[in-house]
Amino acid sequence: MKIVPPPYRIKVVEPLEMTTRAEREAYLEEAGYNPFLLPSKAVYIDLLTDSGTGSMSDNQWAGMMIGDEAYAGSNNFYHLQETIEEIMGFRYVIPTHQGRGAENILFTVMLKEGDIVPNNMHFDTTKAHVQYRKAKALDLVIDEAYDPSSQHPFKGDMNTEKLREVLTRDGDRIPLVMMTVTCNSGGGQPVSMANLREVSEIAKAFGKPLYIDSARFAENAYFIKLREEGYQDKAIAEIVKEMFSYADGATMSGKKDALVNIGGFAAFKDEEMYRKSTVWAVFFEGFPTYGGLAGRDLEAMARGLKEVLDFDYLAYRTGQIKYLADRLLEAGVPIMEPAGGHAVYLDALRFLPDMPREHFPAFALTSALYLEGGIRAVEIGSVLAGRDQETNENVYSSLELVRLTIPRRTYTERHLDAIADAVISLYQNPTRVKGLKFIYEPPVLRHFTARFNYV
Ligand SMILES: *Cc1c(COP(=O)(O)O)cnc(C)c1O
Repeated sequence: MKIVPPPYRIKVVEPLEMTTRAEREAYLEEAGYNPFLLPSKAVYIDLLTDSGTGSMSDNQWAGMMIGDEAYAGSNNFYHLQETIEEIMGFRYVIPTHQGRGAENILFTVMLKEGDIVPNNMHFDTTKAHVQYRKAKALDLVIDEAYDPSSQHPFKGDMNTEKLREVLTRDGDRIPLVMMTVTCNSGGGQPVSMANLREVSEIAKAFGKPLYIDSARFAENAYFIKLREEGYQDKAIAEIVKEMFSYADGATMSGKKDALVNIGGFAAFKDEEMYRKSTVWAVFFEGFPTYGGLAGRDLEAMARGLKEVLDFDYLAYRTGQIKYLADRLLEAGVPIMEPAGGHAVYLDALRFLPDMPREHFPAFALTSALYLEGGIRAVEIGSVLAGRDQETNENVYSSLELVRLTIPRRTYTERHLDAIADAVISLYQNPTRVKGLKFIYEPPVLRHFTARFNYV
């Protein structure tokens, strides 16, 4: 397990407090055994998400000091716009408060009831925005994505045969094609350049625009460089440029690969799409040159977009995920393979083969992991899946996963070791993981506020 050395040093620190087991027991009981309800101060290592939880650089913080807080035409907006044009090739940019703000604008312009949006795999908020407009969010990712032990190098690829079929059959109901890079809901798995190119050719042949949901575009480019024939000698910036050359526009959550704590944008090649979108930008987000952000936030995002293209940064970042995955695999812990770009996923069904599904093994594991090491992880399983809208029965999702999401530039290898030690210790002592039952179950999005007790 070779560790790439970190391409930065630490200049500012945030103290963390380690709690005792007795304190964690009290916190967990108070939180109804739901990690979402734990106060951050009770958590030692927070792996709930990589969204907006990373560290900014000194260069980004310096940029915050030159925020131009003009309502219209801020200097920082122009810097952001130039940066996006340079990196991604999109001339027209609308900043938004975060990624879902961009989705809201794009889908308001493009979607109507009965439409279909093909995507390799919709992220939750993207799917919710599509469904909110009574359109259908269609996931067309290749079958390997659903097999946690498949070693396919690009499990985020779209099944292009299925895409062609649906465009042939229902083309008149499809206003755009989307690709999510990396494929977040599929475990941070990358999309190959060849697939992106083919999807773009198909979309073009049917006269449909292609939009990239680009939250982790740089992590995706890194995997292309590493794994795809013909890209080894290309710079990350070149690969990114080629990826976006196949698209007509993009939505972006800056909280991921723009290395900021808040922000996002929508970007377009077409002026007409931009014009239509600005109307809704004003309505939902703010004047189109600030879009719900302060000038200083725009500056931090512009600088982050350049920093994220650094090969050494990406090698270290993805190396951290791989390091944690390898430590777990070495101890026989069942995880989703290969390791993706931003998280390691524990496969709770293989981790706890004897626990009945009704006891929510993946959720129970997040609870036990907190007790074990003060580590907050997130369930991607049946509590998240909710109930069937018609029968009101629990939906038992095909995979019960625990996501250990690694924030950017935040934790050291020692933290990763502490995580691995806690997980391995539970794997070797599975009786320490206790099944859970609901004592309060909200009717929608139950995972956020549900309360549990031990079975
Ligand atoms: C996070 C994310 C979004 C939504 O972005 P927010 O900034 O959380 O609103 C959309 N798509 C993908 C792939 C994401 O990871």
